[in-house]
Amino acid sequence: MSLDLGARLRDRVRDVPDYPKAGVVFKDITPLLADHVAFAGAVDAIVARRGRGTIDKVVGIEARGFIVAAAVAYHFGAGFVPMRKQGKLPSATFRAAYALEYGEAVLEVHQDAFEAGDRVLIVDDVLATGGTARAAASLVAEAGAVVAGVSVLLELSFLGGRGRLADIDVDVHSLITY
Ligand code: AMP
Repeated sequence: MSLDLGARLRDRVRDVPDYPKAGVVFKDITPLLADHVAFAGAVDAIVARRGRGTIDKVVGIEARGFIVAAAVAYHFGAGFVPMRKQGKLPSATFRAAYALEYGEAVLEVHQDAFEAGDRVLIVDDVLATGGTARAAASLVAEAGAVVAGVSVLLELSFLGGRGRLADIDVDVHSLITY
């Protein structure tokens, strides 16, 4: 990723203090998505890091993860798999409960979302405590596929998410680190 792109991405992430609750600084990526150079550059950088032909399916995590993951999947020539909040997917699911920086959640994926051995890239907007990515990785494994990596637009390194994923030995890539 070029220095210019890195600076542009950073410039297009807006801090919203005390959202969704007091004490949390929410990283709003809507300015980044609205800038076609930043959005395309971010998607290109995620794909370039892995290389085309290395990923069979891209997992997007509801809701902002969908936006980035769908574009990444298209660019890879890979399929897209949604991981959604409880009760949103219509067919039989696997589910994992996990803690968020600002609450608790349940993530679900369709039981038949992957072929056995699919190489899967998990994509989200933000890596914070790592609970979401960890739950997503466990669901990919439960569904019979292989986690090839986790890619996020930005990482809040002070929350230790990368360390939380250390024991599952997966490559974690972020475009911006705070
Ligand atoms: P975590 O499970 O703690 O790594 O949290 C990651 C998930 O929560 C991602 O899906 C993010 O969209 C969301 N998230 C957590 N913290 C923030 C934050 N400070 N700003 C924006 N999104 C966040």
